Amino acid sequence: MQRFDRGAYWALLDRLRATHRPRRFQELPTAPARSPYFLLRHDVDYSPAAALDLAREEAARGVRATYFLLPNGRHYNLLTAEFAAVPRRLVALGHEVGLHYDTRFFASFPRRRWRVLLESQAAFLGELAGAPVRSIAQHQPLLSGPDPFRRTRRFVNAYGSPLLRGMPYVSDACAAWRDASWAVLAADHLPPAFQLVLHAENWPRRAVPRLRLYARLHDDVARAVRDERDALLVKIRAHQGVREHDARERREERARLAGRRR
Ligand SMILES: [Zn+2]
Repeated sequence: MQRFDRGAYWALLDRLRATHRPRRFQELPTAPARSPYFLLRHDVDYSPAAALDLAREEAARGVRATYFLLPNGRHYNLLTAEFAAVPRRLVALGHEVGLHYDTRFFASFPRRRWRVLLESQAAFLGELAGAPVRSIAQHQPLLSGPDPFRRTRRFVNAYGSPLLRGMPYVSDACAAWRDASWAVLAADHLPPAFQLVLHAENWPRRAVPRLRLYARLHDDVARAVRDERDALLVKIRAHQGVREHDARERREERARLAGRRR
């Protein structure tokens, strides 16, 4: 179970599901606390494709999770044709779409505008998803510093809701289990409620060593940028304006030389 691949993912989930129900964050305000459960959270930091692939498998097995999508990451852009349908597809599969937000973004604005800026991001994501965003989770809390929305009443905050305080937090960050996380997962008895925070790219169909896995996620973006660069250079060389500009300069240079010889 310490492996990270799709087989290990289902071994883990099935073991947890034997006694606990996976829940989405949006169920929290109404969820009866009586039966054991875990909040199944997927932070989509890098790969919507990996998220969708896992989301489909989960749906086929009756598992519903909350997928937190990042509107301003470097690795995907929800406003492009390639990714625009991802939130809607996740919702169609029965999952919840939540807002993953980078608090460093807000530093460019006065504090009094932060709440509206967060709500705009949530509204935008809700429009794409076709379902209002009810849950939010900060991206990279260790790098970004304190979350100014921790006490929000407008959303269920994965780090802030009073319900989550004191609830064990189990995360697969960097495709590794911290000792505290592993102690929860490997114990004979699971706590009555806990938050399981996963990243779909950590659970490929075949295991990949973690450094290669993360290098590859970045290499994919770098390759796409390189391909775009090459295509752009070809286009610029053939561009009509560029040809006319360069031909004009050559003509003017020839005229200047001819004038000097006279
Ligand atoms: Zn994140």
